[in-house]
Amino acid sequence: MSTTESTNVLVIGSGIAGCAAALSAARNGDNVALVTKATHADETSTGWAQGGIATTRHDADQFKQDIIDASDNTADPNAVDILVNEAPSVIEDVLIETLDVPFDKENDEFAYGQEAAHSTRRILHVGASTGKHILRPFFEYLQNHQSVRIYDDSTALELITEHDTVHGAIVEDSNTSRVIFAGNTILATGGIGTLYPYSTNPSAATGDGIGMASLVGAQTADMAFVQFHPTAYAADDPDELFLISEAVRGEGAVLRNGNDVRFMPDYHVDAELAPRDVVARAVSSERSQTGTVYLDVSSFDFESTFPDLAAKCEQHDVDIDAGIPVAPAQHFLCGGVVVDTHGRTTVDGLYAVGECARTGVHGANRLASTGLLEGLVWGVRAGNDAAGKSATAVETPDVTTIDPQLPDQFTDAKFKRIQQIVGRSAGITRTRDDLQNAQAELRRIKGEIDAYARTRTSRSLYELRNAAVTALLITQAASETDSVGCHQLVESADPAPQM
Ligand SMILES: Cc1cc2nc3c(=O)[nH]c(=O)nc-3n(C[C@H](O)[C@H](O)[C@H](O)COP(=O)(O)OP(=O)(O)OC[C@H]3O[C@@H](n4cnc5c(N)ncnc54)[C@H](O)[C@@H]3O)c2cc1C
Repeated sequence: MSTTESTNVLVIGSGIAGCAAALSAARNGDNVALVTKATHADETSTGWAQGGIATTRHDADQFKQDIIDASDNTADPNAVDILVNEAPSVIEDVLIETLDVPFDKENDEFAYGQEAAHSTRRILHVGASTGKHILRPFFEYLQNHQSVRIYDDSTALELITEHDTVHGAIVEDSNTSRVIFAGNTILATGGIGTLYPYSTNPSAATGDGIGMASLVGAQTADMAFVQFHPTAYAADDPDELFLISEAVRGEGAVLRNGNDVRFMPDYHVDAELAPRDVVARAVSSERSQTGTVYLDVSSFDFESTFPDLAAKCEQHDVDIDAGIPVAPAQHFLCGGVVVDTHGRTTVDGLYAVGECARTGVHGANRLASTGLLEGLVWGVRAGNDAAGKSATAVETPDVTTIDPQLPDQFTDAKFKRIQQIVGRSAGITRTRDDLQNAQAELRRIKGEIDAYARTRTSRSLYELRNAAVTALLITQAASETDSVGCHQLVESADPAPQM
């Protein structure tokens, strides 16, 4: 079955960035369609966020400097100004007054947390499960909003364009193909974790927004800057992997190698609280030299400070007293679809917000707990800017040929191959040779996918196509960019497995 609908604003993705964009467009009186692969608010990186959301206290200049320092001096100062200056009012308006997020308090005052590379305590949090306490009420609020229509378990397959302008998207759920025409379309599709064999991200993070935007000619930038979190639980099975928040090191946990030696003071003056890229490389190097790295949490009461993480450790039979084995895993993409200060891409009618967008805030390396904040601030800005335009119906590609017979093995096998290529060539350290070989193979794979995509529409095939496009953008950018921040080129790759 196929249907056609129209809306003022189409938002693709229901993490913090998409929800914020939908809210602000609806506040302007617009009709909003919010399309999401998720069936539940928790199935997003936002829902999985642990440590919290950074805010500005009485330290705006220092906060800006911390972001710029963490980025290896590459963050865009204008974007950083917007983020830091607007943080308190947007958090107050959306998260506190509208959604009543129960941020932790002490003596009636917010209990601000500390994280790596922040020079002061400025992280608002709800235990170590901040994301779900933000996103559940956000999703519920929008479900009850009369101007917002949510299509869950629905995937945007491709953008509709005419004369270099985006007019909406083709969306598929389990039994319907929908053409949704929109005055403006906002991509809020999150990250790219599923392109890697080991990632902290949920499985929906297949790079769709970046792939779709790139296919209609939108510019991308900073795609080399893939951030690896230094402390994921070191599971052999990627499905068992979970994140141990930076907040744990903020509370005093230290990293020890296989010889029980604390090593971070040898790598950086801030030791365990050094920027993420520094800690990730150190953990990777110590793992290859000494076999293992673990997080020693014996200096404080881990179970009562981080009850959710303690429960996760118990589920995975981790003996906390012996230390939590950790390894780096893909975590965040600092680059993405190029946008301006209002989230506008380089293509008319198309916006991008959140992790799929490149605002310039993160430069070559993101400061902890600024991802949620960026999604919130740019989501609100983009929703405001995109509001007030009516949809135009234009000609669309044929969407009636959903083919459930697409061989599962084809998409599964190609996806696994992409993960192997990207994990090997665009890990914590990279070589130009590997990156060039990777591009050649990715181009071949993309050619095969395109041949299928001409005749069939299905979620798995379009995710695969977006993954291939995004993987090409990453490997190409990485081969053309000098080492900085979380992108490090070396002469020969570390033979140790890179998670
Ligand atoms: C485990 C973990 C912990 C983290 N902890 C923190 C933290 O403490 N603080 C912090 O600031 N940041 C943290 N981050 C980073 C931060 O959570 C993310 O960068 C941020 O939430 C991204 O928000 P988003 O709205 O851009 O994307 P997401 O929250 O990932 O949402 C993306 C949405 O897009 C949908 N989608 C994707 N493709 C399509 C498509 N084709 N059609 C329809 N829908 C689509 C998905 O279903 C999902 O709803 C963490 C990340 C992870 C993974």
